Amino acid sequence: MPCFNQSFNWIKQACLVCVLVGFASIASAQQPLFDSHLHYGGEDVKAYSPKQVIEIFDRNQVEYALVSSTPNDGTEALYEYAPKRIIPFLGLYRTLIDKRYWMFDKSVIPRLEKALESGIYRGIGELHIFAKDRKSPVLKRVVDIAVERNLMLQVHGDAAILDEIFSQAPNVTILWAHLGTRPDPDFLRAVLKRHPNNLYIDTSVRDKQLLQTGTLAPEWKDLFIDYQDRFMIAVDTFSVNRWNTFDSVVADIHRWLNDLPPEVSKKLAYDNAYNLLIGSSETKK
Ligand SMILES: [Zn+2]
Repeated sequence: MPCFNQSFNWIKQACLVCVLVGFASIASAQQPLFDSHLHYGGEDVKAYSPKQVIEIFDRNQVEYALVSSTPNDGTEALYEYAPKRIIPFLGLYRTLIDKRYWMFDKSVIPRLEKALESGIYRGIGELHIFAKDRKSPVLKRVVDIAVERNLMLQVHGDAAILDEIFSQAPNVTILWAHLGTRPDPDFLRAVLKRHPNNLYIDTSVRDKQLLQTGTLAPEWKDLFIDYQDRFMIAVDTFSVNRWNTFDSVVADIHRWLNDLPPEVSKKLAYDNAYNLLIGSSETKK
């Protein structure tokens, strides 16, 4: 009889574990994502059709994605295939070489103005630019165009670039890529304090760093809770390999999101990007 009791208890415990694990995986499977930083251009287009990209989204519960590309054809093809799920941003680069020199190239401006005529774009970027080039007249004109046309800017750069853009255009909205160039909670806290209104920050490519100790470190947790309306998750498919490993990146994202209170996790996973890029006026998908 004691033996029966023991094994009965063991079965009870095992069942409880199964139920809890089951609930946890259902909970994470049901957390929809809004990816606030993706690329689909060049080699990606050859490797994955728009249909296959949407299959990757569906498998990972990615309902919406902000997408840009070099050149812009990839973004446009994806938008054409799934217009309700893609938020197109206009890239300034014809080839990846332009990434380093666009800020010195005045021909960027007429190309940008022409491309914006399609009316599909919600923002400009991703713009790679750092402190030493912050006085670029091309950047200045790009910022003016963003203001004139009510477009957002996606910036891959240091905090000096944000300071420069906001001093020129205090009301423009900036999406700052990759937790900036100095992903340190205290530093980010200071930048958010300095720019309290229109700065949003994506966490892309920093997931391994956020999980360095296995769980989300307290200083990151505090920052995400204190500024819970300003951060957004993203995969950032900067290469074909990133598309190949999309599922495991999403798993890492869920891993640190799960260390946050559920209401904060939901904001970073979905709500912040949804409110910013789609707005409460439209009916939710
Ligand atoms: Zn990127």
